Amino acid sequence: MTTVDIADGVVTSLGEGESAERGRICVADVVKRFDGPDVLQEVSLDVRPGEMLALLGPSGCGKTTLLRTIAGLERIDGGSIEIDGHRVSGPGRHVAPQDRRIGMVFQDWALFPHLTVGDNIGYGLSRQERRGGRVAEALALVGLAGLADRMPSTLSGGQQQRVALARALAPRPRALLLDEPFSNLDTTLRVQVRTEVHRLLADLGVTTVFVTHDQEEAFVLGDRVAVMNGGVIEQLDRPAAIYERPASRWVAEFVGEANLLRGEAHGDHAETPIGPIRLTTPVTGPVDVLIRPEGLVLQPGGASTVELVEYYGHDHVLLVALPDGSWFRVRAAGAPRFERGQSVEVRPDGSPTVGFPALDPAD
Ligand code: ATP
Repeated sequence: MTTVDIADGVVTSLGEGESAERGRICVADVVKRFDGPDVLQEVSLDVRPGEMLALLGPSGCGKTTLLRTIAGLERIDGGSIEIDGHRVSGPGRHVAPQDRRIGMVFQDWALFPHLTVGDNIGYGLSRQERRGGRVAEALALVGLAGLADRMPSTLSGGQQQRVALARALAPRPRALLLDEPFSNLDTTLRVQVRTEVHRLLADLGVTTVFVTHDQEEAFVLGDRVAVMNGGVIEQLDRPAAIYERPASRWVAEFVGEANLLRGEAHGDHAETPIGPIRLTTPVTGPVDVLIRPEGLVLQPGGASTVELVEYYGHDHVLLVALPDGSWFRVRAAGAPRFERGQSVEVRPDGSPTVGFPALDPAD
């Protein structure tokens, strides 16, 4: 039986039997094609109950298609999908979207402008559910109790997003799927609404899969991030692991800024033009060593030159040219301590990093 626990006006649980598997989504070897090549190539993904998982990747890599196959909006051509241990897609089986008990929120979070907040939330509910207090319950979930009679236009942008979320939560879904949920908001509102939604979903513990092409958004919201490229998941891990130990050169360059430095690896370290650098995984031979901009330090004097200074307030980035013509991005906290044209020496900060076999050792 489904219950909603409310203590002092705060919703503490979504109820629904509270099985340990509630909200688990298992995608196994899923293939999807439209007219041409496979858009999803044997994609596997295990979304844990209560986790927020980001699907991150460039345009056209298959993120939305993967989300839509989980929702049941697309039929799959191979593999299987289970929700709460129940097979919803697979050979000879396709459970309709409305029977999957999945809440879906699209880019624009569109509310019906001519309906009240309450009618918006009640739109997809049965008459019995509406009479049973589901609308008030969903509004309480998102912290907007008492606003059922307001028109959407009288609410702030952030409140409207929460109403859209309430509408998705009202049918008590097993999981939530969000497609680029913040892309239509301007920068200031975006950060504010993102934090609000993050708090809410973290408090509720609803399993959530969301699609984004924005690395910051994926890292900020995602407990784990699946980095997709060309219909496959290149890496699935916690944000820090993806940033610090990307599984491939492509992931390294797609996620954050990457300096790739040619060197010669000797097991646990590589010799490079700026000195020896420790490697997290032993390699031998020509390598391209990944150094994030904050993994480099500068000292005054030396054969390198500061070419550009970019100040961001909380930190700054310097573009530094080495004598061999290569250049690095170097990030440090606070205000810049070097000026354009100044001579500097670039050094690694000593932390271990990853090395990828050099693409063309003869380069
Ligand atoms: P974006 O960030 O631009 O939305 P995405 O990673 O979400 O990209 P998808 O929308 O999943 O990518 O599209 C993946 C590929 O599948 C694209 O090449 C797209 O053109 C194709 N595709 C998606 N839906 C259909 C469809 N209904 N019919 C034909 N091709 C489609």
